[in-house]
Amino acid sequence: GFLHYEVKILVIGLDNSGKTTLINHIKPSNTSSTFEVTPTVGYQVEEFSKHNLNFTILDMSGESRYRNLWETYYENVQAIIFVVDSTDKVRMCVARDELDELLNHDHVKDRTCPILFFANKMDVPGACTPVDTMKSMGLERITNKAWHITSSNAITGLGVDEGVEWLAEKLI
Ligand code: GDP
Repeated sequence: GFLHYEVKILVIGLDNSGKTTLINHIKPSNTSSTFEVTPTVGYQVEEFSKHNLNFTILDMSGESRYRNLWETYYENVQAIIFVVDSTDKVRMCVARDELDELLNHDHVKDRTCPILFFANKMDVPGACTPVDTMKSMGLERITNKAWHITSSNAITGLGVDEGVEWLAEKLI
């Protein structure tokens, strides 16, 4: 890999935003990767590693009683990927609130970890452009972290590499 140290990347977003589909493009195709699903009922975390990159996928729409468990993941994270369903205009404000919670969290707020946003499902007619998504999510308010938004089609993988390359550049 291009990194000589271990990097923890948190992949976060509402359910159905496309996290699992998107991560399939980053995941190695061989079966040597680690892939775990926590056995807790109603609370699911997926983890896998590629080279020195350790990805943890968290659904933000889970029940709030499990949220205290998230702190463990926030603590050591070096980068965040936030997946937004750019076709779900109704729940974009929910995604924005979730982003707020993340940004205000004690383990995140003063950190410089870069955040990559995917305006996903760009292939769907009527999907918000990255600029519209940026405005709806209020990304201009992030002033102490490097961030970037790009549109993606998680099914074909279009835009995924471009995004991850931006993130990798910030991590080197
Ligand atoms: P998760 O809950 O965030 O992990 O979302 P999934 O990866 O399970 O995706 C939810 C649904 O959206 C699935 O039916 C995917 O096939 C679909 N989906 C994900 N990404 C895209 C995309 O870029 N375009 C389209 N058209 N559908 C997508």
